[in-house]
Amino acid sequence: MQDDAVAQSDDTGTIEATPVEEAAPAESAKFESLNLEATVQQGVDALGFESCSPIQGQILPYTLAGKDAIGKAQTGTGKTAAFLITIFNDLLSHPIEGERYLGEPRAVIIAPTRELVMQIAADADELGRFTGLQTVTLIGGADYQKQLSKVNRLPVDLIVATPGRLIDFMERRDLALDRVEILVLDEADRMLDMGFIPQVKRIVRATPRKEDRQTLLFSATFTQDIMNLAKQWTFEPVTVEIEPERVATASVDQRVYLVSSRERFPVLLDLLRDPAVESVIIFANRRDQVRRLYEKLRKEGVHCGMLSGEVTQAKRTKTLENFRSGRSKVLVATDVAGRGIHVEGISHVVNYNLPEDPEDYVHRIGRTGRAGAKGVSVSFASEDDAFLLPDIEGLLGHPLACMSPPRVGEGV
Ligand code: AMP
Repeated sequence: MQDDAVAQSDDTGTIEATPVEEAAPAESAKFESLNLEATVQQGVDALGFESCSPIQGQILPYTLAGKDAIGKAQTGTGKTAAFLITIFNDLLSHPIEGERYLGEPRAVIIAPTRELVMQIAADADELGRFTGLQTVTLIGGADYQKQLSKVNRLPVDLIVATPGRLIDFMERRDLALDRVEILVLDEADRMLDMGFIPQVKRIVRATPRKEDRQTLLFSATFTQDIMNLAKQWTFEPVTVEIEPERVATASVDQRVYLVSSRERFPVLLDLLRDPAVESVIIFANRRDQVRRLYEKLRKEGVHCGMLSGEVTQAKRTKTLENFRSGRSKVLVATDVAGRGIHVEGISHVVNYNLPEDPEDYVHRIGRTGRAGAKGVSVSFASEDDAFLLPDIEGLLGHPLACMSPPRVGEGV
């Protein structure tokens, strides 16, 4: 279960942020209620997002009105869409009158790693595909000239970049940031850990003063250092905190089945036949494992869907729709694809493999037992992955009930 709080950060004593408590809309606010620009709403619809995730519901009413924001949120909360929607909507609702010049972006997103930048850019392409806005990605280790030719093809609206490569562009005067209207700093704590703050400071200094731009800063943790930076860089921000999912939700009955590698599949099939399994997500660790499992299940006549990074967004949307509506009751997913799933009424989660990162275990089982309902998680542990159990138990703070799988027909 997601445990959300909207808070003024007075525990750090460093920032005077406006708490958004009183006016915050219900978490499950519909996007329609935000009166987004039509092409932004179209992008949201095409992705199959029905209602706002908690961070979106809490932060968008403010950021869409132009306010600065500091968000404490991890990956998986929907923060990327929150800042992308803010950017697209703002750029469209305040079109530039008069001539545009090359190399003068209107919005900049900085993130610490290439992977994250690419992920954000991919999300921007999806979400922004009806807006006609130009996004360019700048990352180190890739061809500078190619990136430059993209920057110079059309006036660029949004730059998504790692700090180092963005500075290269600034130093060579291929980009000027003095017209930036919105600046997003994502995963600020990781930027700090990775030693990027001097570079980020240079970038921030190259943009208009904080009173003249909108700044959104996201971080998974709010340490004193982060709050000090946030104070320097933002102007009268609202602060929103989305707590990580609670460890070991009491509403999930967690079981570990000790199985041999060969038993996994037959035990899974048996489990799927149990009428108590009304709706189930099966997690596997890698895309290829997800695909193989999906194919095997189809061969056995199990009507199921598959969600992983190798499935096109359009297909993912359709799959999720089928699952949400109950047309298919089985979904096979990777962790990354599975994190975005906010579906009520999932009765079971199966960990076909134990996740390597204990945090993923918590995310996975958090798909069930939501909104006051009871859920069951079944994790298969066999000779090749049982060694991962102690770390998971360490994170949970208690041992897990390990058992032999029930014999065929005995139910779960
Ligand atoms: P993020 O926290 O930005 O990494 O987003 C996690 C996942 O949630 C992504 O796969 C998004 O596509 C998905 N997502 C974001 N907002 C929503 C929403 N309102 N409804 C459903 N899925 C969403």
